Amino acid sequence: MPSPSFQALEDILLFDPGKRGIAPLVQRGALESAARQLLEKSVVAVVTGFYIPSAKAPETDGPLGAVHLRDALQANGQSVTLITDDRCHSRLQTLGFSKLIGSHWSELPSELGALVSIERLGRALDGHYYNMRGVDITDRTAPLDELFLQAADAGVLTIGVGDGGNEIGMGNVRGLVSTHISQGERIGSTIPVDHLIVAGVSNWGAWGLVAGISMLAEKNLMPAASKAREDLERLVDAGVVDGVTGRAEPTVDGLDWDVHAEVLDRLTAVVRWACP
Ligand code: MG
Ligand code: MG
Repeated sequence: MPSPSFQALEDILLFDPGKRGIAPLVQRGALESAARQLLEKSVVAVVTGFYIPSAKAPETDGPLGAVHLRDALQANGQSVTLITDDRCHSRLQTLGFSKLIGSHWSELPSELGALVSIERLGRALDGHYYNMRGVDITDRTAPLDELFLQAADAGVLTIGVGDGGNEIGMGNVRGLVSTHISQGERIGSTIPVDHLIVAGVSNWGAWGLVAGISMLAEKNLMPAASKAREDLERLVDAGVVDGVTGRAEPTVDGLDWDVHAEVLDRLTAVVRWACP
C-alpha cells in the first residue's frame, strides 16, 4: 500500500464527476511508484494531444497537465520535452510543444529516461483508435502509442495517465475497462505502461504526479490556481477546445473551472500538509 499522503492524493483523483466509472481501474500505489522513479530521470518526454475531429483541434484535457508536469520537473532540474502529433501541433506549438512526424523512436531526445503519456489514445484490440463515444478516429490519430511499446524494449520508464479506458497505459487494466467502462471492450486500449495513473480527468492525474513529486522533493511544485487558470486560457486562445463540448472555452471535459480549481486546491493541501 502507498504511504498515507499518497493514498490521500489517490482518493482525490478518484473524484469522477463525469460518471465514467473509473474507480475499479485505480491501481493503488502506482502514483507513488511513478513519482519516485520519474524523479530519478534527467531526460523526460511527455506525450499528449487528443484531437477532436468536429472542432479540428486538440482538447484541453492533457496539454494543461503536461505543461504543469513540465514546469515541475524543470524546477527540479530535469530536462523535459513536450510532444504531440502533427494535427494537434498547430494549436499547441505556441505553448512549447514539439511534433513527431513519423512516430519514430529516433525522433525522441537522446538519453531519454522516461516517457509519460497524458490523455493520449492507445490502440484497441482491433488496432483502431476510438473516442469515448466509440467513434473510430484512427485516420486522425497518429500512432504515438507505438513509442510506448518501443520504450519497453529500450528500458525507458513509461507512465500513462488516463480517465476513460482508451488511453495509453490502460492496457494494464484492459479486462477491468471491458467490465466497467461503457463500450470498454471496443474502445479499451491495449497499450501497457510501467505505472498507470487513473483520474476523473487526466489533467488531475498529471497534477497528482506533480503533487507526488513535490512531496518526495520536499518542495511545493504545484501550479498556483491563478496560474493554472491563465495557462488554460492560453490554450483556449490558441484554439484548443473542451473535448466534451467541442467549444473553445476555459473548461475541461465539460466541467467548469471551479471544479478543477477545487481538485487542484485539495491536492495542494496534501502537499502542504506533507511538507509544511
Ligand atoms: Mg480520456
Ligand atoms: Mg479527459
